[in-house]
Amino acid sequence: MAQIQGLAAHAAGAELLPFHYDPGPLGAQDVEIEISHCGVCHSDLHLIANDWGVSQYPFIPGHEVIGKIAALGNAVKGLEKGQRVGVGWQSNSCGVCEWCTRGLENLCPAAEATCVRRHGGYADRVRGNARFAIPIPEALESENAAPLLCGGITVYNPLRTHDVNPASRVGIVGIGGLGHMAIQFARAFGAEVTAFSTSASKEKEARDLGAHRFVNSRETKAMKEVAGTMDFILNTANADQDWNTYVQALRPTGTLCFVGVPPSPVSLAAFPLISGMRSVCGSPIGSPHMLREMMDVAARHGVKATTESFPMAKANEAIEKVKKNKVRYRAVLAN
Ligand code: NAP
Ligand code: ZN
Repeated sequence: MAQIQGLAAHAAGAELLPFHYDPGPLGAQDVEIEISHCGVCHSDLHLIANDWGVSQYPFIPGHEVIGKIAALGNAVKGLEKGQRVGVGWQSNSCGVCEWCTRGLENLCPAAEATCVRRHGGYADRVRGNARFAIPIPEALESENAAPLLCGGITVYNPLRTHDVNPASRVGIVGIGGLGHMAIQFARAFGAEVTAFSTSASKEKEARDLGAHRFVNSRETKAMKEVAGTMDFILNTANADQDWNTYVQALRPTGTLCFVGVPPSPVSLAAFPLISGMRSVCGSPIGSPHMLREMMDVAARHGVKATTESFPMAKANEAIEKVKKNKVRYRAVLAN
């Protein structure tokens, strides 16, 4: 097999530089994908900076990949060479544990990530276990669908598992890559949707994406006005905020769910949780089954990422723009 060409970080926080590696023989259960598009998720920035202490250098980021299957391992069934597929954050699991056999592979203790301690999708090709290569419906364009593979599923899965429906009042905190897709999915599920944002300039676009209401989360008065009005609040922001205000925004039995990763521990007053039987939880990506379902829902309900396109070679520019919260709403690298 030919070498894989990509862009790698060689130290924490470093600029990406051209890098190639020998992928070795293709595993019997694996596919190799010739990448056409790869989204820039904020988790790539966390990994480049080693915010989570799991990064090993050099490594090629990228885990919102779409492309065509260039090669299949000899035990792969149900996929063909040339087929368009996507791979997200996860690209393998043990397949036999309680969680895998329940169809919750994203909870497998042996789950493998596409770009942690191995090379991801800011490259010409990438590999993963075929169970995690998701066929992309015809109706979806690769550029707008690539961000669904991580950002999309990360918001779709908790909205589905927490039974968001037409009776639900949903809040989405942080209108970035994840948040702008969350507004669309929550709206597709029929919920009343409130966008919480620190960027007043995002109001019109948030409403166009489906939000019924826009709250500037920097305004104390506006935050007080929504107290006790939400059933489910999904935090997608990667920054510290006053989480007690969001708990106060919940109705009794409501849930505050974290998918965005703030840097500091979350500190909450217990009394509002106790008195209103409110919950706090987190949620990681989603299973291959949920990914397939999400793709189908996205195709039928017109959910897609609003993207800014960059050539793969300009990945560093895209990363800088994400860092400054300037992208509207997902940077996507194209080969
Ligand atoms: P992103 O596109 O950069 O969006 C993050 C948003 O957070 C920004 O657009 C901004 O929205 C808000 N924000 C930024 N700085 C803020 C501040 N100082 N105070 C309050 N809000 C602020 O990032 P993303 O790709 O959506 O990823 C978001 C987070 O989700 C990251 O931590 C990422 O690692 C995590 N993630 C988790 C999973 C999972 O499985 N749980 C999967 C993927 C990503 P406004 O301008 O509207 O305020
Ligand atoms: Zn991601």
